[in-house]
Amino acid sequence: VDPRRLLVGGNWKSNGNVTFVREMINEVLNRMKFDEKKVDVVVAPIVIHIPSAKAMLNTNIMVCAQNINMMGNGAYTGEVSAEQIKDFGLQWVIIGHSERRKLFSENNEIVAKKVERAQDQGLNSIVCIGETYEEREEGLTKDILKAQLDAIKQSIRDWSKIVIAYEPVWAIGTGKTASSDMAAEVHDYIRKWVAQNCSELISQQTRIIYGGSVTEKNAESLITQKDIDGFLVGGASLKQTFAEIVDIVN
Ligand code: PEP
Repeated sequence: VDPRRLLVGGNWKSNGNVTFVREMINEVLNRMKFDEKKVDVVVAPIVIHIPSAKAMLNTNIMVCAQNINMMGNGAYTGEVSAEQIKDFGLQWVIIGHSERRKLFSENNEIVAKKVERAQDQGLNSIVCIGETYEEREEGLTKDILKAQLDAIKQSIRDWSKIVIAYEPVWAIGTGKTASSDMAAEVHDYIRKWVAQNCSELISQQTRIIYGGSVTEKNAESLITQKDIDGFLVGGASLKQTFAEIVDIVN
């Protein structure tokens, strides 16, 4: 398989109920047709919905956790460990989503520890990075991304299990998308960072996906950018539009 095959992730966040999970899977996800060799499709339900989602989903769609703790198993009430995600049979986790960074005080150091836990367990991590509106306005976008990338560098031993999601915070859930040129410029910057900090080969094999108000309307112009290897989709992953986005990517 192509190490840089495309990837579309659906991040359901803290949305939905038992009925939603059943209907979304039976009526949308399991009806999608796509080439598994060309595109990975993953969906991230809340933890309590993971077992039923995994049981219902066609085997070509993988279930992803939205978060893991930075410790492991133990006296950490309310938390789920990378070991437990792995033990349940999942291969994927989202780490460092901007909502977790902002609302749950996850700084670069915490994100780095979580990446390390995921690497210890051999999980595939979708690591989210991105600048806020103020940071972009102040011309700090690349500095912020560099700091976020530098922070996780020491935690990564196996780059084949890392997907970087560039998610400009100002574009998440706002209906504002980075223009394809804007996204292309940042993806190019991230790929160069990987080349300089790891190797040219790793940079060519690492998937860098975009997230931030992706819909069936803007997916085409974004996915045709050479350094955009797929999407992390929030709002549009809760409905039929997710299948349209997968179709466009495929
Ligand atoms: C996200 O939460 O990762 C995201 C990109 O959300 P939305 O598509 O709703 O902007």
